[in-house]
Amino acid sequence: MKPAKVALSPHAALAIRRGHPWVWRATASPLRVEAGAVVSLADGKDTIAEGIADPDSPIAVRVWARAPEHLDDGLVRQRIDHAFSLRDRWFADGSTTAFRLLHGEGDRCPGYVIDRYDRVAVLQTDGHAAEARLDRMRPILEEALRARGIETLLHRARGKEPHVLFGSLPEESIRVREHGVPFAVDVIHGQKTGAFLDQRDNRRRVRTLAEGRTVLNLFSYAAGFSLSAALGGATTTSVDIAAKAHATAQANFRLNGLTPADHEFVTADAFAFLAEAARKRRTWDVIVSDPPSFAPNEKSIPRAMRAYKSLHRACAEVLAPGGTFCASSCSSHVPMESFLETLDDDTLGRADLRVVEMRGQPVDHPTLAAWPEGRYLKFVVLA
Ligand code: SAH
Repeated sequence: MKPAKVALSPHAALAIRRGHPWVWRATASPLRVEAGAVVSLADGKDTIAEGIADPDSPIAVRVWARAPEHLDDGLVRQRIDHAFSLRDRWFADGSTTAFRLLHGEGDRCPGYVIDRYDRVAVLQTDGHAAEARLDRMRPILEEALRARGIETLLHRARGKEPHVLFGSLPEESIRVREHGVPFAVDVIHGQKTGAFLDQRDNRRRVRTLAEGRTVLNLFSYAAGFSLSAALGGATTTSVDIAAKAHATAQANFRLNGLTPADHEFVTADAFAFLAEAARKRRTWDVIVSDPPSFAPNEKSIPRAMRAYKSLHRACAEVLAPGGTFCASSCSSHVPMESFLETLDDDTLGRADLRVVEMRGQPVDHPTLAAWPEGRYLKFVVLA
């Protein structure tokens, strides 16, 4: 059966030709197909691409194939193999056993994200279309994953219990390594797929920055930044609103031969903690701030900007003279230049800091040149 044709506006057609993977609903002719159906995208008389339709979503089509390619199982298999083979090379030395095997749009497999935790993989689907095509994807994924020694594939979808696509549900947390540092991940109850793998290289960076200094890690979750800093000889304070996160964090400290009692783990709202610390005139040499996304959509951008500004101002108040401030944001709606506006002298209320590094996401979270939305992670170091 020939795929249904969708006519694009000239502007949308240009974006797709440049490699942007999304067709917004408002820029295409109406879609009369089921979620998950293959459609072809037309620029006037020319068919320029093929993708998967999601008629009820604002992202109406996600592009997989560029003409003259066609979207079929062969192409999907090739894409998955290509993405996995890159990781085979990048992580060949075995020092990192937790990484992103497939990064959706960034690996030209829109809607599908897979994180690997040693012998277990966790799939997250984005949108109805990706879920609707899962039965078709499963055998392709299983073959490529098993070939790499992965015995279990879990599917985690928003608002649903994790369920097994093949293999068996892991009974306990999984032991992995990141740049040689062991830690445990709970792929069933943990946030997202279990861990935030996108900060891997930034955690390692913090280890060097933090040598022998005091470190405040805000929004610490499993305290990966603190662990890395502590291994570099720092004394750390980890702050998270979730008490459970600290239990995991402390277990990971012990796993690395560190004594949790030598460090501080505070269950608190980060803003309240900072206000209290300022009142007590406490300061730290290094501060890491890695909050959850403040801007989940376009509409929330102004509010998010204000939240980043007040957070950064509060951090600046407890940063020791000569200190290092690492400010991070995972909101794709706040690009780097906007994020830097939340770190200027006026916002911080001090004029002794300079931007020394603008970091982002690691190799296993690739983006496409024509897809700025994919560059979601910012990690700015000020000294
Ligand atoms: N830095 C972590 C990931 C942070 S995820 C890492 O490298 O793995 C964001 C964390 O912020 C979550 O653990 C969540 O519990 C916590 N959080 C959310 N709102 C908070 C608040 N107001 N104060 C403190 N922590 C908060």
